[in-house]
Amino acid sequence: MGTAPGPAHDYDVVVVGGGSAGVAAAIAASRRGARTALIERRAYFGGVAVAGSVLMYCGFFTQGGSSPVRVVGGIGLDVLRALEEAGLNVEPHHTRSDNWVVALDQEVLKITLDRLVAREGVTPILHCGIIDASASGGVIEAVRGFDDNGGFEIGARAFVDASGNANLAWMAGASVDPLTDEARQDASLVMRMSGVAGDVSPDDLLAAITRENDGLTEPLPLPYGAVGRLPLTGDLVAIVLDLPVDALSAVDLTRAEMRGRTIARDYFAAFQRHLPAFAGARLQATGPELGVRQGRVIRTQRPSAVADVLRGGPVPDTVAVAGWPMESHQGSGPPRYERIGGPGWYGIGYGALVPEGMDNLWLAGRAIGADADAYASVRVMGTAFATGQAAGIAAAHFAIFGRHDPSAVAVELEAQDAILAL
Ligand SMILES: Cc1cc2nc3c(=O)[nH]c(=O)nc-3n(C[C@H](O)[C@H](O)[C@H](O)COP(=O)(O)OP(=O)(O)OC[C@H]3O[C@@H](n4cnc5c(N)ncnc54)[C@H](O)[C@@H]3O)c2cc1C
Repeated sequence: MGTAPGPAHDYDVVVVGGGSAGVAAAIAASRRGARTALIERRAYFGGVAVAGSVLMYCGFFTQGGSSPVRVVGGIGLDVLRALEEAGLNVEPHHTRSDNWVVALDQEVLKITLDRLVAREGVTPILHCGIIDASASGGVIEAVRGFDDNGGFEIGARAFVDASGNANLAWMAGASVDPLTDEARQDASLVMRMSGVAGDVSPDDLLAAITRENDGLTEPLPLPYGAVGRLPLTGDLVAIVLDLPVDALSAVDLTRAEMRGRTIARDYFAAFQRHLPAFAGARLQATGPELGVRQGRVIRTQRPSAVADVLRGGPVPDTVAVAGWPMESHQGSGPPRYERIGGPGWYGIGYGALVPEGMDNLWLAGRAIGADADAYASVRVMGTAFATGQAAGIAAAHFAIFGRHDPSAVAVELEAQDAILAL
């Protein structure tokens, strides 16, 4: 491994992307003593949870059992506590898929993350898209952001890519592995509906659309997935409309967003026609954006692998623990779940966070290295907090000492109350 880059830098650590992973990475780096900026192109932190109404935290607990067993501590747990202080009930719910999830509220989440980031001494930069990186020999010197005043450079000694689609790694020249249409996890457009009376299951929605399709010359795609009630509003969210999309292409995203909104409107009309629970209901929102599950695969030193998931337990240089099963959204039909083996959790190693050939860049959240099956597990938000915290500490350590040191990262993770084994 090389040394830290040259002398003049605005920050020790720059984190690109302010979803679950980026928030955790920035706070962790700041706690480790690094001057840290968190850069987000949207107007708020929270990532897909807010932008796509993905309002259930998965991955904080192992699957099954009569009571939840938590596998994420540290900053993820701090976020849950802060949400509770802000008035949200964060008690986990048991789902039909035998998992434990925490339901969220968009507004409470936004302001809670604002406060946490500010309290921890992180410099937040919203409304700033990163469009380029200056890098040579595997070392990033600076990233180039833009706002309505034009472009500007932000330098740092170390960087975390928490952009979901691994945009920074790609801009910096990291190696990208191919992702075929068949292997890619589909995107979904979330529907949020108010005034829905009583219990509604995914099977009810499927039955309604099946009836609706009787006699239609152009049948609607069948809805599969999950429904849940949101706290505070009691709104029903349905994640049942999957759409294949190349999430790196604006043209393809446009097609999918427009098609998704049309189908969502037709779905809702059908729910109202066939399900009495929807008589007084309203379609409050779609999205607002399509929820993208997978964009780009970066080649990493040691990606998480399906064998790690099926075996369960620690891996070499474990820096995060995952507890969500493999939940695959490849192709049409219902999501397919496969349990974690052994103790019901598995470790994610330091090497899954380090792009091959890059010296001062770490991946976090759904950008980390994983094979197609393991990716179906590591991508959820509880786990994103855990990998984000690890990436933030690793970047801060590099900024301070100029070298990689997975053991020191593990020690600091434990000092920051992260969970590395159960
Ligand atoms: C439809 C759907 C349903 C899901 N259901 C669940 C669920 O119920 N529970 C769960 O836990 N997980 C769920 N997931 C998975 C989970 O939401 C994501 O994998 C998770 O949000 C990953 O967190 P992240 O921080 O890595 O990325 P994201 O939440 O995607 O955040 C990445 C952030 O980076 C920013 N960014 C990207 N590029 C740039 C740039 N160039 N410059 C500046 N900022 C940039 C983006 O604006 C974004 O805010 C679901 C995903 C989808 C799509």
